[in-house]
Amino acid sequence: MKKGKTFIVSGPSGVGKSTVLKELLEQRQDVYFSVSATTRGARDGEIDGVHYHFLDVDTFRDWIARDQFLEYAEYVGNFYGTPKRFVDEAMDQGRDVILDIEVQGAIQVTSKRPDTVRIFIAPPSWRELERRLTQRGTDSPDKVQKRLLRAKVEFQTAHTYDYFVINDTVENAVAELNAIMIAEHCKPKERMEIISGS
Ligand code: 5GP
Repeated sequence: MKKGKTFIVSGPSGVGKSTVLKELLEQRQDVYFSVSATTRGARDGEIDGVHYHFLDVDTFRDWIARDQFLEYAEYVGNFYGTPKRFVDEAMDQGRDVILDIEVQGAIQVTSKRPDTVRIFIAPPSWRELERRLTQRGTDSPDKVQKRLLRAKVEFQTAHTYDYFVINDTVENAVAELNAIMIAEHCKPKERMEIISGS
């Protein structure tokens, strides 16, 4: 069976990635969303094993030691990592996989797996990002500032990604993500079995 492809979706905290990805996954139930592990506390409404695997720092370090992560990174005071096994199982089943990860993790994955497709999601403006982060109300003003600062650093890497999507409306962003995923499967290198068989 043909293996699935991995798509990394990165973008500043507060850009609305989770909302966009939730909608995309409702439309594309064939796609596997990789549930990350993190040492940050759960926000209201977040469920262990659904939104993240919430781990304490010792357990996270143990997973690192046992080589359980495809990548991991520190982000604004917490660790985040992608458990390798589930990603590989889904790809082996021919499913496309989405990783919602920040830029350091994206660099690690691409250096190990160069055929990964990288998509950067940007807010329509900085003012809008600040408004979304503040209104979300999940972080202290200090953490909001740290996340904004980090967002500006991350934005400087956007040109290294394969695609750039602006989340002006959820509908547009979902349509663009879906189009990218479909188009990536139409590349000749993805269809070599047909091409070389003719
Ligand atoms: P949040 O705390 O807002 O859920 O996530 C903070 C940042 O961590 C986001 O940019 C998100 O994409 C990133 N992130 C979530 N899971 C992972 C992961 O497994 N690895 C890496 N490197 N970043 C992650």
